[in-house]
Amino acid sequence: MRLEEKLEKMLDVIRYEILPLTECEVKRGNHVFGGAVLRSDTLTSVMVGSNNRVESPLFHGEIDTLNRFFKLPVRPHTDELIFLATHDPCPMCAAAVAWAGFKEVWFLFGYKDVESEFGMPVDLEMYRELFSTGGVRKENKFFSKYSIKEAIAESADPDAFHEALDEIEKRYAAMEVADFAYPGT
Ligand SMILES: [Zn+2]
Repeated sequence: MRLEEKLEKMLDVIRYEILPLTECEVKRGNHVFGGAVLRSDTLTSVMVGSNNRVESPLFHGEIDTLNRFFKLPVRPHTDELIFLATHDPCPMCAAAVAWAGFKEVWFLFGYKDVESEFGMPVDLEMYRELFSTGGVRKENKFFSKYSIKEAIAESADPDAFHEALDEIEKRYAAMEVADFAYPGT
């Protein structure tokens, strides 16, 4: 599959599958972060999830996605799958994705977006305070991690993704996130 087609399909999963779920979950008091498990060959979703901190502060979007995925009675092997995170994973989620066996990870919004536009500095603070680092290494023994935004910027026609990105950013900005007692604050 061409990179442009792959990027388009991942943005469609965010627009049409993750965001509708997130928009419901945010109304229940959850945060905006979501994830999806996709088939590597077709980029169709096997499972999507969204933050469920109302149930547990550990149920970030990625953890919720993984919990839903591993409850499937029959599921593809993670060798045949890609993990998609709407936001670059925090230390807990990055490790969870590695423990789950995923080898290819994509995300849309980077740590800086999460800190500035989404008002969530704790992800980066945990990397710094617990591990003296600014995030996960993009290439590591467990997985390769790719930025959708960076791939779009390097693609043949970055403008072709403008409409989808604009819609996604507006829908995230429109959600009102309930207050939450974050650790370390
Ligand atoms: Zn997380």
